[in-house]
Amino acid sequence: MSVTGVTKGVCGQPEVAKAMLRGGVSSLADSRMENIHRLQAAGIHTRYMLLRLPPLSGVEEVVGTIDVSVNSELSVVEALSQTACRRGMVHDVMLMVELGDLREGIPSDELLPFVRAAMQLPGIRIQGIGTNLACFGGVVPSTENMAQLVELVQALEELIGYRLEWISGMNSSGFDLLVAGKTPTRINHARIGEAILLGRETVHRRPWPGTFQDAFLLHAEILEVKRKPSLPVGARSEDAFGELPEFQDRGEMIRALLNVGREDVVIEGMTPLDSQVTILGASSGYLVVDVTRTDTSYGVGEELSFSLNYAALLRASTSEYVKNRPFHSGGQSTHQRYASV
Ligand SMILES: *Cc1c(COP(=O)(O)O)cnc(C)c1O
Repeated sequence: MSVTGVTKGVCGQPEVAKAMLRGGVSSLADSRMENIHRLQAAGIHTRYMLLRLPPLSGVEEVVGTIDVSVNSELSVVEALSQTACRRGMVHDVMLMVELGDLREGIPSDELLPFVRAAMQLPGIRIQGIGTNLACFGGVVPSTENMAQLVELVQALEELIGYRLEWISGMNSSGFDLLVAGKTPTRINHARIGEAILLGRETVHRRPWPGTFQDAFLLHAEILEVKRKPSLPVGARSEDAFGELPEFQDRGEMIRALLNVGREDVVIEGMTPLDSQVTILGASSGYLVVDVTRTDTSYGVGEELSFSLNYAALLRASTSEYVKNRPFHSGGQSTHQRYASV
């Protein structure tokens, strides 16, 4: 199975993409043109796949930049065809089919008519077929939906008269099925983001054996440390985000304010490396944590570190206020490295 490394979780950060290529992925994919431009500008030469459906308004840029794009709309494939012809190029398309997750994809009964029309278009090669699961509807990859994909492949190949290059049936949700030996052998391509970045399969979000879960850490600086009550004092209405948070009365506590907030990260997806630190909440620019029962006594100017889930990593990568610092660990986990600093 060939693997395309998906870099959208880190906004196409070149250091991460290079690490993916060193690790053996055969190509890179992202959902944003901006991220792919960033990778290309960093001099990373590989095959690039656009994972989000191209906009009709952007076909020019897609044909000029991308090697393979995923598609589900004939009008877009027609526009790609016209552009490719004008440029004297052939653009590869992977047709996405809908198998139940209800995000992008051609309904399976519309696939063959779609292909019949697409085959007539010059400048277009139907390079592969793919499906995406566990993203919108949370539908789990199964023997049934994978068998359905393979069935469609057979019908499609009979129609076009050649073997498709990529039968792309897997993302980070497909690992359990794969190791159980239940992924059909015709499925020969995977698009993997989260499992590479965070070391988890995405059906149960279990850590995958032999991988690190702390390749990304968020460090935030303490701006204030004060003893304060655990319950707000005075009549209460909505917080800054229009919500009415609930608080438990745990008496007075030592609270630290950090210089990250909801604008920079998904608070619910952060885990403090110091397990004695508890996250109390956040506004757009502050994270409020309880450091009452920590062995370390934290002071202003010191840093706390957090591991991140995918949503938190994505937002931190997108925030212009969060600075990226790549480390080369030589195979140690980030945690071990920090422990030794
Ligand atoms: C984001 C994305 C992926 C990668 O998914 P992971 O769960 O991060 O592996 C694969 N395919 C498509 C179409 C995507 O949008």
